[in-house]
Amino acid sequence: MAAEQKQKTIKVDPDLDFIRQVNAAGGDTLKKCFQCATCSVVCNLTPDNRPFPRKEMIWASWGLKDKLVKDPDVWLCHQCNDCSVKCPRGAKPGDTLAAIRNYLFKNLTFPRFLGTWMSEPKYLPLVFGVPIILLLAALSAAGTIGKIPEGEIEFSKFLPHGGLYAVFISSTHLAALFLLVSLVRFWKMLGASDVSSAVGNSRGATAGDLRASVIATVKEILTHAKFGKCDESKHRYLGHLGIMYGFLSIAIGTGIAFFMMYGLRIEPPFGQFTPPKILGHLGIIALVIGLILVIRHRLSGDEKVSKSTYQDWYLLVVLLTVAVTGELVELVRFAGIAWLAYWGYIVHLVFVFALLGYFPYSKFAHIFYRFVAILHSKYTGRDAGVADLAA
Ligand code: SF4
Ligand code: SF4
Repeated sequence: MAAEQKQKTIKVDPDLDFIRQVNAAGGDTLKKCFQCATCSVVCNLTPDNRPFPRKEMIWASWGLKDKLVKDPDVWLCHQCNDCSVKCPRGAKPGDTLAAIRNYLFKNLTFPRFLGTWMSEPKYLPLVFGVPIILLLAALSAAGTIGKIPEGEIEFSKFLPHGGLYAVFISSTHLAALFLLVSLVRFWKMLGASDVSSAVGNSRGATAGDLRASVIATVKEILTHAKFGKCDESKHRYLGHLGIMYGFLSIAIGTGIAFFMMYGLRIEPPFGQFTPPKILGHLGIIALVIGLILVIRHRLSGDEKVSKSTYQDWYLLVVLLTVAVTGELVELVRFAGIAWLAYWGYIVHLVFVFALLGYFPYSKFAHIFYRFVAILHSKYTGRDAGVADLAA
């Protein structure tokens, strides 16, 4: 009798704005869920301990934003859509988790107005307007607007390094700093969540060992081990690998170019058979092939199972445009068409800015949040049930 009188009351305080934003970000089928748990049963990536995505479906439909913001499972999902194919209600749990991630890109990193800019196409004039104005200002300061430099085509004659760095280094460094602050905050939020109590009880080989967890996380990401576990989207594996290794190759090539310029004092342009150029060309080939595979998959996909969002397309189209304009500019430079090479270079830089200047607020940031979530999962022993993937 006394026990009955002391029944615990749980107050649910739904965040209606959160529900509205998740719906707008691709989670509009969320309300169809009737909590049968088929999705959690069929997901090959979910750990045994407190599986996903059924619990995320109910949290999202109740507007429990505070639970989802610190839920690492949102980031452990690779949107393979095995669950969405099997869902008897067409609630698309794979898309709902993607929509929650889109909400987090928009709201986790300071300043939030940039997250808003990256969330809807109506802000594209602002997104592209900023790099256009900055680059035109740099060209104006260099006195090269309307004046094509003569002689061998060297981009630094049109846009001097000082102007290039003022536009890019300052913006990307600032963006990286803001992302780092968000990731530290995210790690703390995950640490405060109750799954951290899994440490000590875990069967996971890396539980409680940060170094081993970092190594296992890097290994898992480099091998894309979890993609291989998906049934419905296995073919995304190759596309995603191509994009990742293509991007890595370009990034390493760029790093070597900087070292050659500032460490070895070698002036660009570099020859076609130098490490930066070889890595750059190979990276672009891998990137373009990977992007074509992923874009083809998205275009031919069944909308009843999954629907691509604006955030998906923004990243794919901007990445593809960066790769294609980069190669075209090289070709035009090779052909000696100065005005087209110089202005093509500026167009290429606008797209590079659209990719890197806003990276903490676009889907690009999923690389970093997913890294932290997988690391947390390994460190806390949360992935004990799927630990054989990278242990
Ligand atoms: S999302 Fe679908 S499969 Fe998952 S619990 Fe809801 S109705 Fe069931
Ligand atoms: S989309 Fe794939 S990884 Fe994500 S919850 Fe569904 S089955 Fe699991």
